[in-house]
Amino acid sequence: MTTNPLISPLRPDTWRIDDGGVRFFLLCGTERALLIDSGMTVRDAKEIAQGLTSLPVSLLNTHADRDHTGSNDEFDAFYMHPDEEPVFRKNGHGGTILPVRGGDVIDLGNRPLTVVELPGHTPGSIGVYDEQNRVLISGDPIQQNGNIFMFGEHRNLARYIESLENLLPMLEKVDEIWPSHADLPVYPAVVPALIEGARKILGGELRGEPVDMHGRTVHRVDLGVTGMLIE
Ligand SMILES: [Zn+2]
Repeated sequence: MTTNPLISPLRPDTWRIDDGGVRFFLLCGTERALLIDSGMTVRDAKEIAQGLTSLPVSLLNTHADRDHTGSNDEFDAFYMHPDEEPVFRKNGHGGTILPVRGGDVIDLGNRPLTVVELPGHTPGSIGVYDEQNRVLISGDPIQQNGNIFMFGEHRNLARYIESLENLLPMLEKVDEIWPSHADLPVYPAVVPALIEGARKILGGELRGEPVDMHGRTVHRVDLGVTGMLIE
């Protein structure tokens, strides 16, 4: 089912595009524009972006889950962490992966964006730090009032905790975090709360309540700031 995406500005030259339960972003510099993810139900994210800017549009995926790659087939090449490739291909996509890793800078022209590695939710989950706006676009690992999926293949709770711990020092430079799901914005204080909750799950202190997820029984743990879905 395709829904009509809802487009709203967040900053000058910056839009959120809400597509059902997920959102993606368009950021423009002086030279080019970058889509961060390509939607869940939409197959025309590039056209949507071209309706908002006349700059050439590139694509970066925070990770390869299907709700973030809806329009990838519109692009010949896209930025993605190489550890996402197996799932991305398994989902039937072609195209060329332009590999990016933590610390890589993608400059849109007067707007440098830095790649931040956040593995755990998936092996190659990444975020994007927009230093001019002091914003971290985080993908799925950081959420408030949502459900962070940590059940099934490819998830790794220990790596997830490590990722968020590694993120703590840079949060001094972050005013807002823009996740792909649930609340926007969220604030850096949510990160220590996620670390604490995830540690309790890993230590067996929190088990959660069984819930049905598309015919599969998983457990929802209430971390206070958000839910986390585990086996
Ligand atoms: Zn997602």
